[in-house]
Amino acid sequence: MILLKDRCLGGREFFSPPFFLGSRNYPSIIATQLQAALFFAMLTASQRTLIRQADLSLDTLDEGSFCELMKHPDQVADCSDDELIAFLKIANALYRGGEPIISDADYDFIYLAELRHRQPNHPLLHTVEPEPIFAGKTVDLPVVMLSTDKAYSREEVERWAGRIEKAATELGKNFAEIEFKVTPKLDGYAAYDDGRMLYTRGDGRKGTDITRVFERGMQVADHGNRGLGAGEIVVSRSYFNENLADFFDNARNFQASVIKEKDLEEHAEQAINDHAAVFYPFALLPSWTGPWTELIGDFENIVKTIWHQLDYDVDGVILEITDEDIKQAMGATRHHHRWQLAYKENLETAEVAVLKVTPQTSRSGRITPVAELEPVRLSGALLSRATAHHYKMVVDKRIGPGAIIRLARSGEVIPKIEQVLKPAEPQVPEHCPSCGHELIWDNDFLICPNNLACPAQISNSMEHFFRVLKNNDGFGAATIKKLYEHGIRSVDEIYTLGAEQFEAMGFGPKQSQNLVDQLLRSRNEAVEDWRFLAAFGVFRMGLGNCERLLAHYALPNIFSLTEADIVAVEGFAEKTATAITNGFANIKPLFDTLMNLGFKLQATQNKSADNSHPLAGKTLVFTGTLHSGSRDELSKQAKAKGAKVGGSVSAKTDYLVIGENVGANKINAAREKDVAVISEQEFLQLLAGENA
Ligand SMILES: [Zn+2]
Repeated sequence: MILLKDRCLGGREFFSPPFFLGSRNYPSIIATQLQAALFFAMLTASQRTLIRQADLSLDTLDEGSFCELMKHPDQVADCSDDELIAFLKIANALYRGGEPIISDADYDFIYLAELRHRQPNHPLLHTVEPEPIFAGKTVDLPVVMLSTDKAYSREEVERWAGRIEKAATELGKNFAEIEFKVTPKLDGYAAYDDGRMLYTRGDGRKGTDITRVFERGMQVADHGNRGLGAGEIVVSRSYFNENLADFFDNARNFQASVIKEKDLEEHAEQAINDHAAVFYPFALLPSWTGPWTELIGDFENIVKTIWHQLDYDVDGVILEITDEDIKQAMGATRHHHRWQLAYKENLETAEVAVLKVTPQTSRSGRITPVAELEPVRLSGALLSRATAHHYKMVVDKRIGPGAIIRLARSGEVIPKIEQVLKPAEPQVPEHCPSCGHELIWDNDFLICPNNLACPAQISNSMEHFFRVLKNNDGFGAATIKKLYEHGIRSVDEIYTLGAEQFEAMGFGPKQSQNLVDQLLRSRNEAVEDWRFLAAFGVFRMGLGNCERLLAHYALPNIFSLTEADIVAVEGFAEKTATAITNGFANIKPLFDTLMNLGFKLQATQNKSADNSHPLAGKTLVFTGTLHSGSRDELSKQAKAKGAKVGGSVSAKTDYLVIGENVGANKINAAREKDVAVISEQEFLQLLAGENA
């Protein structure tokens, strides 16, 4: 029942089964009756529950019409006012419940825009935008958190500055001297951190207590402290693409999984441990500051620079003034501060024809479908390619030459195929584009099984090794490509190269020496043994699984593990275990060669053997300025002894380790929760194995 899987629930990325194109396009394929029956299968039970919980009903707009309206934004003008309002309310409720059904862009630019056009004063237009809701105590926010007014053109920005000039003049201030500030607009999950609790924005006045996010070990970005106020929960874009994209549809799903009450998903936990998912207080954001004339004189440039400064999803820039008097005088509406403005690029969608679907072989042998498009200009960029998730999608959605797709692009985000408007004969390869080997299906993915001799897999694997090892620079795609062209096929060969050999391959003298230095560094700098193992890229053995496995078995022993040994470790399934033992057997020769080169590996502490350590199983929180090492380093050492390290004190905390400059309130609050407050010195004694 493929059609049932395609219910109207897909969040940002959704695809329409052909019947949504209207029976007029497929009169012979789908009978009206069947169509009606399928419409009824559109909303999931949990979506219906969310609608009921929000005190909404499907009376004004039945489920079929609702889905019809969702799939045909172009026909929004045909619905009645009541239907439009009912639609917006239901869409809101589902978004708040964590099951969005339309993209933010469609919501803003199509449905809400239509309402603005019809009823400019409707309350839906003047309240703080809804956010997904999570379980937790509802609490008053320490400060009112508002939305930001949005502008999509330079003219709107200039009109806003005009209002600031007016306010400045009224206060007798010289507008030319007023400082403007530009910061990136993070596209994460908004929250407020008062140093004690973390709150969702809620309705702007009351939010939900989601302090658990810090208890799960989430850190403040940029090694910042707790208590810096408003910010966003974000995930590094490159990390997401590298480590999470296979497990989460998009960054938003990932953020939700970090915040949700249920147990942390393993990859989400790893992302937190890797500090790829952080809370980013606005106060720590990079910024541009200067007077208005300078800002507007170099507007495009400043916007572009600030927009692209961070490795997080950013969907615009925030413009504001820093003068407190003017801010005070301008005040706020119920929706936004008048002294602040979000500038976004106009998000556009385009309907384009697919010329062909080109396969690309990844490191693991998975084949990624890339749709080559008729070039189209979208949000100021000329696009000619878009990616589909996997080949199952290409087959199901019928993406092939001549298909018409709807493409959306916001800011710098890689264009996504939003919808297949006109399907065509799908283009599915039979042979690997890199090595020509016959491809096989593995669930939704097409795979090239020729792991040991496929050029794309070899190059991508070598690149992967250096990227995961993380203690080196210079072995990116361009370097690896050149090495491959000169006959290099494996990482151990790279380690034998000297400067003259790099030079002979066409690298400059300086770069050659640098590459040699980096190779040396990667062997001499200490690296966790689980990271080293993950660098080999064994199927299903990412950073998290490597750490888990090595907490039970020492690295030299993993090659003799049976499937039963692996399944015995929490988090490993039987099916995975087979793939893992095969994978280990495959990497054994390379592993042995590299070990003989002498890497400096730090062994993962064996969990079961170290239960007697005074920190084993204890939960710690660090606060204040520490002297014996960075918070990261001390956390790492504590974790090595089996301790958990939290971000804030809760009833589950055993020890609050206080450095210098810690307020009495913080200490008292911890004591009230029966948490032992210990000094850094006492912590070091515990760490050394002395009982408290
Ligand atoms: Zn291949």
